[in-house]
Amino acid sequence: MPGELIDGKKIADEVRAELKPRLVALAKDGIVPGLAAIIVGEDPGSKLYVKMKGKASEEMGLAHWTVDLPENVSERRLLDEVSRLNADPKVHGILVQQPLPPQIRLDAAVSAVEPRKDVDCFHPTNVGLVLIGRPRFAPATPAGVVELLLRSGNDPGGKDVVIVGRSNIVGKPLAALLMQKAKGANATVTIAHSGTRDLPSHTRRADILVAAMGSPRFVKADMVRNGVIVIDVGINRIPDATAKGGFRTVGDVDFEAVRSKAKAISPVPGGVGPMTIAMLLANTVRAAELSGES
Ligand code: NDP
Repeated sequence: MPGELIDGKKIADEVRAELKPRLVALAKDGIVPGLAAIIVGEDPGSKLYVKMKGKASEEMGLAHWTVDLPENVSERRLLDEVSRLNADPKVHGILVQQPLPPQIRLDAAVSAVEPRKDVDCFHPTNVGLVLIGRPRFAPATPAGVVELLLRSGNDPGGKDVVIVGRSNIVGKPLAALLMQKAKGANATVTIAHSGTRDLPSHTRRADILVAAMGSPRFVKADMVRNGVIVIDVGINRIPDATAKGGFRTVGDVDFEAVRSKAKAISPVPGGVGPMTIAMLLANTVRAAELSGES
């Protein structure tokens, strides 16, 4: 029997529904959470992500703004824009969409965002708070992975979790969340990367395997054990003459083959993607709640 499908759309809807009473409480104090996105250049992927985040904000009743900057914008101009948003009381969450052009240092952009408005949870202060188990914000994609596991009845506590990928956006913060001595975490975490010797020997002993590499259908059935739980973070566009537009989106996992051995698996699309957006909205609501505190 193929593994159960972990439905990211359904779980993201649950997360969003739980935000509604918090929005009502904020509205009583005259607060509408607001999310501002800065986008640099014309990257179609970035444009699409920012549009999706804006649409999701609107559907939730959040205010949102997009600041479009040209590809050749100077770092100074971008940082001025961030400062302006930092100072704007209507803006509770700020995100600087990646990738950024080479003239802008990612570190400078990320560190310029006021930590209390850093809803992506990329600022070094917020990253540190996650690592020591006192998160102000939950990093959106990793927190989405954790919610998918918990709400599908697959508590990572005591499990061997293998994460393939060590980026600052996915792999590292996910490891930081799952290794905490806390309910809903408490896993034994291994991080694999391109320097890992004999990757399949690690992935095959995973109770929970998280693929976050950006390599289409890389994880094959012979790399997992029977009964594994798989979360596929990858988003890859591959040519497909039968698909509308000539491209298709696939994950980092060879879905059907791996599903045949898995206990449960998240699909792409419809898995981690919707969760990332839901968690970003949750962080914006939290930022608005924090804005009333000293
Ligand atoms: P990065 O390119 O920053 O990191 C990829 C990681 O995978 C690196 O650590 C790299 O190792 C490792 N890796 C790549 N190939 C291999 C390999 N053959 N064997 C072992 N390790 C490998 O990507 P991101 O973390 O930003 O994103 C990963 C994927 O997740 C992408 O497809 C991205 O589009 C998707 N994504 C999806 C999101 C969502 O909402 N669903 C959100 C964010 C990302 P090394 O460090 O050694 O180079």
